[in-house]
Amino acid sequence: MENLIQTKDLRVNFNVQGGFLKDLFSKEKKQVRAVDGIDLDIKKGEILSLVGESGSGKTTTGKAILQLLDQIDGEITYKGQAISHSDRNFIKEFRRKAQMIFQDPYESLNSKFLVIDIVAEPLEINGLIESQERKKEKVKEALEWAGLKPAESYFYRYPHELSGGQRQRVAIAAALILNPEFIVADEPVSMLDVSVRADILRIMVNLRDQKGISYLFITHDISLAWLISDRIAIMYLGKIVEIGDADKVISSSLHPYTKALINVMPKPRVAGQKQKRQVLKGETPNPGNIPKGCRFHTRCPFAEERCQKEEPPLIQYREDHLAACHFAEVLSEGVI
Ligand code: SF4
Repeated sequence: MENLIQTKDLRVNFNVQGGFLKDLFSKEKKQVRAVDGIDLDIKKGEILSLVGESGSGKTTTGKAILQLLDQIDGEITYKGQAISHSDRNFIKEFRRKAQMIFQDPYESLNSKFLVIDIVAEPLEINGLIESQERKKEKVKEALEWAGLKPAESYFYRYPHELSGGQRQRVAIAAALILNPEFIVADEPVSMLDVSVRADILRIMVNLRDQKGISYLFITHDISLAWLISDRIAIMYLGKIVEIGDADKVISSSLHPYTKALINVMPKPRVAGQKQKRQVLKGETPNPGNIPKGCRFHTRCPFAEERCQKEEPPLIQYREDHLAACHFAEVLSEGVI
């Protein structure tokens, strides 16, 4: 499959004022390496999930790819062309073809707008409304793709008159109206009732299958990522620590962090069998103070002295399956 989006050594650094007492009187700003040099490729029609705990840099990565942040280093290419070296027309085209769906449908929709105007807003901004009739047709089509039927019955409602699932469908319709090729979906179902989650995920997969849309699906829930993705990338403190085919990452994970995330996945109970779970210790360290060596060593049950000194590179262990751990090979064979 051909690459649609690529990042090379993508970095996002934020300057923050220290929050501790000793920093209160200091004018010195700390630098947080929110995204610390990542290489990703997202293929046409692919769903790539980016999985990690809160503070891992997932959302920042998504926003950086969409050019929604200023502090970006490294290269982002769209259809093989570097965005930073492109002319305004190319960047404008990229902004139309790359959209975002946010986690919170309550916040992402303008509460004072009617549904028809929320969904048509991207057309308005881009000067693409030819007539009121055409606007209605396009909004209707987008709402139907997002599963709101009959679409016209939603046109003149405000967001507060809709359920959480319906609001997220309106947000999806607004993302679809410009016929995107790529969508960053940032925890799109985490605030919804379990009963509507499957419907929203089904809509996303349908759009991939029928319109060839590619996704960066951001989630903290590795079981959701497994359900929906072609490939999974695991992110920890600003770096990708494992990436590969979704089934392989789940069935033969290489990195201890991935194993810990898999261990907390809900599993069917078998009568008479005790479930042994390795629960991840501690919190994610402060991204302003990334541990030396392997950044996971403060929480890793397999850490050795070498792990405190040497940062493991992300290397390929199996076909299209990479990990950043000094002991990935032996861990995957269950030797340690
Ligand atoms: Fe754990 Fe060491 Fe591997 Fe890091 S390099 S994940 S600390 S075993």
